[in-house]
Amino acid sequence: MELSRRNFLKLSGVATGSLLLPTTTAQAREEPSTFPLRKRVGEVPTICTYCAVGCGAIVGVQDGKVVSIEGDPDHPINRGSLCSKGMAMAQIPHNPQRVTKVLYRAPGSAQWEEKSWDWAIPRIARLIKKTRDENWISKTPAGNVVNRTEAIAFLGGSQNTNEECYLWVKALRALGLVYIEHQARI
Ligand code: SF4
Repeated sequence: MELSRRNFLKLSGVATGSLLLPTTTAQAREEPSTFPLRKRVGEVPTICTYCAVGCGAIVGVQDGKVVSIEGDPDHPINRGSLCSKGMAMAQIPHNPQRVTKVLYRAPGSAQWEEKSWDWAIPRIARLIKKTRDENWISKTPAGNVVNRTEAIAFLGGSQNTNEECYLWVKALRALGLVYIEHQARI
């Protein structure tokens, strides 16, 4: 048979249709396979470790490991919701991105070097003291006593707990810092 353009299009349509339709009525009636939507894990109620709101959470535990965290719908404070910090609670001990060693990049260098805490802590303390002393403001031009430094700023993060924040702010105010901020506000 000579295959005209019109016949070719008709045949192509039939072939495509037969590919898309189920080949038998039995197949068309086949039930979709079922699978569990939730893993059966031990659920442990807890309170978020971060801010003082004190949201309730339910932690899913499987083989001794945290596999899920969700807001506790029965908790009177958050009624099932959690903020991003609460949702990330599982990362507190196990975050693979967490830096666990001191990394130092010298001024002008493109390389990070591993250092010990014994090297880092005295250096940090020395540089803070030096910067503070060189930039100490006792009085404003109008003669008001302020006793502060504007040369050091502190930026907190949403991963800091309430207790850490309390200690940080005590130390920073004692040092005379006034530029104290939190990442969520910038
Ligand atoms: S950090 Fe978020 S989830 Fe945790 S207690 Fe505060 S508001 Fe609730």
